[in-house]
Amino acid sequence: MSRSVRVVWDDALTSYDFGPGHPLAPVRVELTMALARELGVLDRVELTGCAPATDEELALVHKRDYIEAVKWVSATGRPDLSHGLGTADNPAFAGVHEASALITGATLEAARSVWTGEAEHAVNVAGGLHHAMAATASGFCVYNDPAAAIAWLLAQGASRIAYVDVDVHHGDGVQSLFYDDPRVLTISLHESPRTLFPGTGFPQETGAEGTAVNVALPAGCGDSGWLRAFHAVVPQLLREFAPEILVTQHGCDSHALDPLANLMLSVDGQRTAYEALHRFAHETAGGRWIVTGGGGYELVQVVPRAWTHLIAEVSGHPIDPATATPEAWRRFVKERTGQTAPLTLTDGRHPEFRDFSTGYDPADGIDRAIMATRNAVFPFHGLDPLP
Ligand SMILES: [Zn+2]
Ligand SMILES: [Zn+2]
Repeated sequence: MSRSVRVVWDDALTSYDFGPGHPLAPVRVELTMALARELGVLDRVELTGCAPATDEELALVHKRDYIEAVKWVSATGRPDLSHGLGTADNPAFAGVHEASALITGATLEAARSVWTGEAEHAVNVAGGLHHAMAATASGFCVYNDPAAAIAWLLAQGASRIAYVDVDVHHGDGVQSLFYDDPRVLTISLHESPRTLFPGTGFPQETGAEGTAVNVALPAGCGDSGWLRAFHAVVPQLLREFAPEILVTQHGCDSHALDPLANLMLSVDGQRTAYEALHRFAHETAGGRWIVTGGGGYELVQVVPRAWTHLIAEVSGHPIDPATATPEAWRRFVKERTGQTAPLTLTDGRHPEFRDFSTGYDPADGIDRAIMATRNAVFPFHGLDPLP
């Protein structure tokens, strides 16, 4: 299904590290790459290195004075609270500019690979820092790599880009950077802003022409409800918008075990969504697909399995969920974290959902969330909000 697939990786991507005790610990991508390697997933892709994003590339989405502020924090290790650096969420650390610019550089490399046709799909699991704003760090994110990739593609002449964000948190930074730009369709499915950071992502946030789309799901939503909502909104809009390129953000903090949020998905449900996005990339975007990681704070039990499935799916060789985790990887996990590794690639679920086209239940919280989104944006796209 996939022609050539690139995974952008450099060991230095793990230098994006806010320090001990911070939820976003780089060991999660280290364990992911180790699991993917042990399972042979990386043998079926082209591994590519990357260079840090230049100031010009960062300035596609960030204010120059913000970039200068990040560099000052980077050189001094001191906080700059006016730019969101030095808070509990975004601690100041020496080298923060270099580490953040490398992550953006990796997503730009993925974008470049797909735009030039050197690869059909490309992945940066260290990327997906979707909360960073034009002039401030936010929600563990310093530079907004998916937004920089989108802006770079626009600068190359792309005119229709779709961004789908399945992280449990609203993709607020990406939305805000393209809010009034009809060339960029942003779709974010997340836990309701009433119960979760960043407190935005209501269906009424539609952008000027319905090109900002928000599905705000109630806390407790599991695989079947989440997939029902996804399939009631995403394929219709992608087909109608017909993007030249699809960019997706794959935060896996929607998992039931994630310590920061309250959705109840399984790795099996997440994997099912990756498979659907792969299909939509071919069906609606000519196969041009740029993939990033995102949030995910159950560092051992969830992130490595979810994103190994992700890389495998993108490569066109998905892994049977019943596959056992390799012994060598289990030992590495124990050594590196002191924790016991998961034994298989599945949570033992077989996610199914009722399709929204068969009708909806106004008493159901998930169905109300779906209808709120469809009512808010479908008419802009000539689509009927009713099933
Ligand atoms: Zn493919
Ligand atoms: Zn998140």
